Amino acid sequence: MTSALIYSPLYRTFDYGPTHPLRTVRLAVTHALMDSCGLLSIPCARYVDARVATDEELLLFHRPEYVALLKDINEGRPVLRADRFGLGSGDNPAFRGLLDWSRLVTGASLQAAELVESGEVQVAFNMAGGLHHALPALASGFCYINDPAIAIISLLRKGRRVAYVDIDAHHGDGVQEAFFGTDQVLTVSVHESGHSLFPGTGFVEEMGVGAGLGYAVNIPLPPFSDDELFLYAFESIVPPIIERFKPDIIVSQLGVDALRGDPLTHLNYTNNGFCKAVETMRTVSPKWVALGGGGYEISNVARAWTLAWASMNGLAIADVIPQEFLLHFRNFGFLGGRLRDDNYMEMVGKEQMWDQVRSTVAMVRERIFPLIR
Ligand code: ZN
Repeated sequence: MTSALIYSPLYRTFDYGPTHPLRTVRLAVTHALMDSCGLLSIPCARYVDARVATDEELLLFHRPEYVALLKDINEGRPVLRADRFGLGSGDNPAFRGLLDWSRLVTGASLQAAELVESGEVQVAFNMAGGLHHALPALASGFCYINDPAIAIISLLRKGRRVAYVDIDAHHGDGVQEAFFGTDQVLTVSVHESGHSLFPGTGFVEEMGVGAGLGYAVNIPLPPFSDDELFLYAFESIVPPIIERFKPDIIVSQLGVDALRGDPLTHLNYTNNGFCKAVETMRTVSPKWVALGGGGYEISNVARAWTLAWASMNGLAIADVIPQEFLLHFRNFGFLGGRLRDDNYMEMVGKEQMWDQVRSTVAMVRERIFPLIR
């Protein structure tokens, strides 16, 4: 197995603001944990410094007027009506440097795609990527530039057939929208139901249009779904649908905001479920571009993505957090974390949850499987 980790120490210099849930320091904390576990010196792995995406690359998906506005905000120039583009709200603050941040994240996802496409490595991981909500002229859900969509377009331009698999707690709406009308990209999203969580979409009935009919797959789960329900849904749909679609490359969004304790969502996965899904992606991917995504409880993020990177390299690490890291983590000031009081809900109505998930899986099998060729 050859692999690449794309990273930049600059990630943590960008700041969404003191009260914003997306703290870029989570990436530095994760990197530090990987280091403590010996995962930054794997002999067959490459460690690549992230590059910035060019204007031309941003314009593969985004509108020129939107990119121009992002440039103004980036430089601190006054702008009018930024709200028309989804900017300036609590979710998508118009902070200085937001385009520099987005270019770096997107450049890293493009590098991951390039390294995998060219055959230099079998898997590449950009944990800063996976910002799946942005639309061509709209910032949404903490995302300004849609790096997965741009990376996928770059692969399509090289004649590759791509499957996108998204396990973030939130529906991968921006990526679905980008490829809703084509059968060259299969998008699959497993997420908390839009009835209880942003962005309010991602129902089974959203199946694609025209040539793309059947190539958008949504598996919404009820709030408080745990590993058992998640894995039942994931394993019932993802391997068989990948088997039918036969992609050249899989681009996966490995958001970790579905893990128990995340302050923004209501799912209750643990690393057992998350890692099993990551392992399945490894086995079904001919070539694999792995991106990060959501995740707002920093110790969850660091642990899950460290385990994911180990799994991408076929390594298992001891189930002990190194002391050295704990000291480091303390320096970041996040040791306390937060305790949620709703974890007891996990078992409430489990039978009802099973009914819902079984019927969702049956609907996807019945309606979508026959359409995939
Ligand atoms: Zn999310």
